[in-house]
Amino acid sequence: MAARPLLLFETSEAALRRVSEPLADEPDEARRLIADLKDTLLRHPNGIGLAAPQIGVHKRAIVVCFGAGTGAGHGPPIGVINPVILEEGRERLDFDGCLSIPGLYAETVRPHFLRLRGIDERGQAFEWTLDGFDAVVVHHEVDHLNGVLFIDRVSSPDRLHREDDEPEAGERSGP
Ligand code: ZN
Repeated sequence: MAARPLLLFETSEAALRRVSEPLADEPDEARRLIADLKDTLLRHPNGIGLAAPQIGVHKRAIVVCFGAGTGAGHGPPIGVINPVILEEGRERLDFDGCLSIPGLYAETVRPHFLRLRGIDERGQAFEWTLDGFDAVVVHHEVDHLNGVLFIDRVSSPDRLHREDDEPEAGERSGP
């Protein structure tokens, strides 16, 4: 288990744009990857989610912290393997940012309702219903597995901001 260097858009755009492959049924590999993702995320106090391609592994695994939209702090990272979005809805405009694109944030439209299928950290298949910002965070991370970045979802340049333009928004955290 070890934190790994985070790929940044500036230097690793091609790797961040690559579509990730499903993780085979290899519990040890999955456990190691989830552990590395958690260790890496915990090095970045603003982070609330991370996807395997952000550490250079093109496998479909993510870690997400739930409860980040409540204003009351969020939970520890939880690993999800081979996530599949079965249904999404209630789209809303929200703030978005990414550990791989530091210094930028944006308003993007994402679902506030998701039905998600996947394999949990114990290797059990699950189907979850997610609401509010939890759905937004998972949607952002699943995008990473498809090589999609939040800047791709910005509908107009006025919705893209540099952190130093508006320091009052500097507290925004991002997946
Ligand atoms: Zn991201």
